[in-house]
Amino acid sequence: MRSVEVAGIRVVALTDCAPAPAACGYSFPEADLAAHPEVAARWFSGGEFRTRFGPFLLRGGNGDVLVDCGMGPEVGYFPGLLGDLPGELARAGSSLDRVTEVVFTHLHVDHVGWAPYLPNALFHVAAAEWAHWAGPGAGLAHHVEAVGRCIAPLATAGRLVMAEREVLPGVRLIAAPGHTPGHQAVLVGEGLLIAGDTWHNPAQIAVPQWCHRADMDKAAAVVTRGRIAALARENGWLVAAGHFTAENVFGRIGAGFEPLSA
Ligand SMILES: [Zn+2]
Repeated sequence: MRSVEVAGIRVVALTDCAPAPAACGYSFPEADLAAHPEVAARWFSGGEFRTRFGPFLLRGGNGDVLVDCGMGPEVGYFPGLLGDLPGELARAGSSLDRVTEVVFTHLHVDHVGWAPYLPNALFHVAAAEWAHWAGPGAGLAHHVEAVGRCIAPLATAGRLVMAEREVLPGVRLIAAPGHTPGHQAVLVGEGLLIAGDTWHNPAQIAVPQWCHRADMDKAAAVVTRGRIAALARENGWLVAAGHFTAENVFGRIGAGFEPLSA
């Protein structure tokens, strides 16, 4: 279980579940691997995309805080996969009951699944993100279903808070639209940027034009990838992303992505 400490906050990378590697062309339909052979060889070896569904646990002055909450106990989107957030929290010394805050990067199905199982948490989301998914014609049915099942009851119960800028002490939001309309990155301790789904794979840091099929506004996602990478590079921030494999979950941005060694 990988973790880093930033300004007194320990950030632990949890794995809710990890699907089997799949053909890169399915997830990145426009990626021309032959045009960037070194990037492709390093991050899509064998033409395969390896991924993970990974929330982050923040432990420090704010209590136990989650950034996103995984697929959930039954991963209907990937039949046969079972989410293991409770086990991961236990291994990190926490539990579903102890989580008091959840910060969403966005409201896709693989980021909201355990929300109904966190009885003591307040949930923070960008107003633009909630407005999108609460409105008509929001998008693919499995995301709409997940928001209706996992998030709408929280809004009714007054447990969904519209998050802007500093959401908790040392936890600041940076708008990163494109993947979804209200997608945001989470800056921890002014030193670690949890980028959400800005990137699904480190290859996209070198080649921001390679969109994941789930990017809702691909042109905006390309702009955001460039802007977020430049911010991280200029400020010397560590970066992390929940879909990077566990060994590559934390790293720095130089010419490309440089994972922290274990
Ligand atoms: Zn995702």
